Formats: sequence, structure tokens, C-alpha cells
Amino acid sequence: MNLPEELKVLEKYFVKQPYPLLGAETIQIFLFREVLDFTVLRTEDTRELNTVITPLSTEIDENVQRVAFLGSKQKAVESRQMERLLRTAANEAKYPIEECYLKDYLCLECPRCALYGGTNASASKTTNANIKHRVAYSTAFSLATFEQIQQVTTFNGISDMTVQTGQTLNERISVKPATIFPSIVTLHSVTWKEFILMMKTILSSHKYGAESRIGGDVRNTVVGITGGWEEFITPLEFTIELNSEEGNNFSTDNVIKILNKYKPLLANQKNAVILLTEQVEKILKFISEFAINKEFLTEAYDDVRAYRSIQENSKPKKK
Ligand SMILES: [Zn+2]
Repeated sequence: MNLPEELKVLEKYFVKQPYPLLGAETIQIFLFREVLDFTVLRTEDTRELNTVITPLSTEIDENVQRVAFLGSKQKAVESRQMERLLRTAANEAKYPIEECYLKDYLCLECPRCALYGGTNASASKTTNANIKHRVAYSTAFSLATFEQIQQVTTFNGISDMTVQTGQTLNERISVKPATIFPSIVTLHSVTWKEFILMMKTILSSHKYGAESRIGGDVRNTVVGITGGWEEFITPLEFTIELNSEEGNNFSTDNVIKILNKYKPLLANQKNAVILLTEQVEKILKFISEFAINKEFLTEAYDDVRAYRSIQENSKPKKK
């Protein structure tokens, strides 16, 4: 398959084939993760939300407490979502693939493993090499402050038999609906097919947080894309730049304005591009209309096979 017209703006920042040694090609996807139902963002061992003290904005000299949406939590959901997409598309296209699931049965032969990385746990594999991840997540910080978005719910279990409540009261601390987390997913040395898979994964992931069987609904909206030989900005910079004196401005034009402000700080300005609003919109339309068919799957899985064979041949053969 040839590079689709809509993705030509990023051509310089794609690699032809995934390769174990990474180049500098970096694509950043800027998105708003908007919480649409009560969502519990905490680590397993505490009942508290993850929070952190950060500056309010670049203009106002004041610190505020924000809720942190850990990168590991975003990654866990999206890695699983990509596996689901691949498995369902392969099923539909009647393209046979190996089962691959977290945590200990990674196949190391699929595009998910090639992007998210994995260590070899199975002795049956032809190579013992591990795969280094090429997708990077960082903590996202809420636009609004902790005080504005936290909600404490008290609940106790009701017995179905007696329809009476139990003795113990439980507390759930969650993030309120309509909370926005500006976030960035960074791709290193990916192919255009891997870019399509990542975009489809991000856009189709909807459940996050602990206790996601209740609540946890999130909508991801892509608001900017850059290509370069390095990262443009970090999620913390993204959040504090969006907090301005005139209030928050969520438009893609404003996101592009922020990215342009940081462009002079890059070490490789000549090798950097900030996609225009219409280019981002064109890509989003293309991604949503693009169907993952047998030809796409065959080429994407062949790329991983080629990657693994490079790894195998670069290592001393085992007896
Ligand atoms: Zn896999």
C-alpha cells in the first residue's frame, strides 16, 4: 500500500519499516481527554485522587493543585484497545493472528507489541529479544483545579435479600464530568500504518480509571499534530499554556499558537512541522473513514516479522 495523500504532510517523520534502533523521527498527537462521567483517577493502594501542585498559568504567578491522570493509566487502556481493534479487524478480514494479551502472553509478533513493546516470556519464540516501546505517554494534568473537579460520593452496599444497607460506609473520590485533561501521545520512528493504528486506538478508547465498570467515560479529541526530530512540549506545559487570563481557549487554532510559541526552543527547527487546523481535520476524517482490511493487516504484520528477523539475525544463534 502507498502512503495515503492525507498523511503526506508527515512523510518526513515516518519510517519505511519499524527498526530496533530508533531514529529521531518524532510525531506528537495533542489531545483533550474529556471526562464524561465520574472517573476515579488514583493509584490502587490509596483512596485519594492523584494530585500535584503546579503553576496556574504562564501569566499568573500562583500555584494550584491539579489532578494527575497518570501516563501508565492512559497506556494500559490504549494498549488493550489496540489489541482489541487488531483482533476484531483480523477476525473480520479472516486474517489469522496469534493470541496476544496482557500481561504475560504478549505475542511479540503483532503491531501492538511492536509499538508498545514487550519482554519475551514464552520459550517457544524463535528469538529471545525484547521489543522496545515506540509510544510514550506522560502524566496529564487537569485544566481545572482539584477543588473544582473532585467529588466525594458516600455509598453503602444494599443486600438484595433484605433490601437493607450494610453497616460500613464507603467513600469514592472521583473526578467530575466535564473535566478536561490536555494530553500528549508521542510516537518515535513509526510507519504510517502504525500512525493510523495509534490514531484509531486513541479515538476509540472510552473507558479509563480505576473502577471503570461504573463511570470512567472519557472522550479523546485530537487537537493538534506535530512532526519533528524531538518533542515540542510536555503535557504540563500544554495545560498551563491553556490556562490564560482570558479563560481557556480550546480551539485548534489556539493549540497551534501555543506550539508555535515553543518552536523556537527546538534544537532542530528546520526539521519540524506543526500541522495546520485543516490538515489535522483532513487527517481525522481520513482516519475515521479508513477501514483496516486484509491488505493493511498483512503489510503491518509483515513489518513486525521483518523487525523480529532483524533482531534474530543480529544476535548470536542459540544452540
Ligand atoms: Zn502482540
